[in-house]
Amino acid sequence: MDSAKKERDATAELLSRIVQVPALSGTEGDRIRLLEEMCSSAGADEVKIDGLGNLLARVGSGKKILAIDAHIDTVDVGDRSQWKEDPFSGRIGEGLVHGRGTSDQLGGAAGMITAAKLLKELDYSGDHTVWFTFTVMEEDCDGMCWKYLIEEEKLVPDFAVSTEPTSLRLYRGHRGRMEIECHFSGVSCHGSAPERGVSAAYKAARSALAIEKLNEELAPDDDGFLGKGTVTVSKLEAHGPSLCAVPDQAMLYLDRRLTWGETKETAIEQVRKALGEDLADVRMPSYAKPSWKGTHYEQELYFPTWKIDSDHPLVEGGVEAYRALFGSEPVVDKWTFSTNGVSICGRHGIPVIGFGPGDENQAHAPNEVTRVDDLWKAAAFYTALPYALDSIGAEG
Ligand SMILES: [Zn+2]
Repeated sequence: MDSAKKERDATAELLSRIVQVPALSGTEGDRIRLLEEMCSSAGADEVKIDGLGNLLARVGSGKKILAIDAHIDTVDVGDRSQWKEDPFSGRIGEGLVHGRGTSDQLGGAAGMITAAKLLKELDYSGDHTVWFTFTVMEEDCDGMCWKYLIEEEKLVPDFAVSTEPTSLRLYRGHRGRMEIECHFSGVSCHGSAPERGVSAAYKAARSALAIEKLNEELAPDDDGFLGKGTVTVSKLEAHGPSLCAVPDQAMLYLDRRLTWGETKETAIEQVRKALGEDLADVRMPSYAKPSWKGTHYEQELYFPTWKIDSDHPLVEGGVEAYRALFGSEPVVDKWTFSTNGVSICGRHGIPVIGFGPGDENQAHAPNEVTRVDDLWKAAAFYTALPYALDSIGAEG
């Protein structure tokens, strides 16, 4: 605890330097190189960049693997006129670090580098190999980086921690999500005599209202932890041979949030049922964009729901570490947004908890900030967690 507090200003300084090297999804190269240098300076046992462009730093060589993850890409700044100062200043002042990504979620990355340093100073040699993972492209396609790490690099942790912002609370799940494309077809005809044709636009319009109704009918999860799923129309298009014709093609784009027990299959089936014979085709689109290393990797836009039980050994280990450090009980809760947990736990069943500096409501907002004092506290938690898991003999 004291050793982490000594790193208070140094951790804020790390975050400030990271913020000053911008990195949107797919262009993280310069920031990854900076983090590589920082992990080496922290004394990590091994530092490497994988095939996709994720950076991995290892401390320890125990038989179980604990991964502590930060995605290091950010969203863009949006309307620059809404920022009171340079989004990439990384200015430290008023007990805050200022700039894009300070909460979502470069503060977690800075805390991890300090934790690597502290674990080396403590000469950690327990049951866990700790892999600090600095992952890419999360803002575009959450979890794809981890799909790559698990399926291609064969890094399969026993436990994982996401350092996305939790305001130093302990999180154990969040809703999943998916994107759905609904296609409609009609028969075009001259706009002067619409009765000769069949309008794809009207089918899409009826269907949009059916989606509104479907949203109201979605059932909550059994224990109420994650809350209700949602569905909304995020785009509506219709086309025909001219603007003086009945359109023969239309499309609705849906954003679907999935609660516990809802999957891509159940969600698509609901859409088919709600739209009936108006619907010509329903599809789940894919994400495909080369990484900063030029690697082509792809996945469907499906991000499975995940949670672990409140009495799971990983949650118990987290509670134990928190108690030992701060002398109180952590708030155990869930995220509203989505994280790499969709892949690590949702797709691959590896238990995940969340613990991170900064606030979720700062994410993607102008004038983003994070608290300096959250940073060293998060670093202390990442340092204490492997010891806590060792002491309770946690098995994944
Ligand atoms: Zn994030």
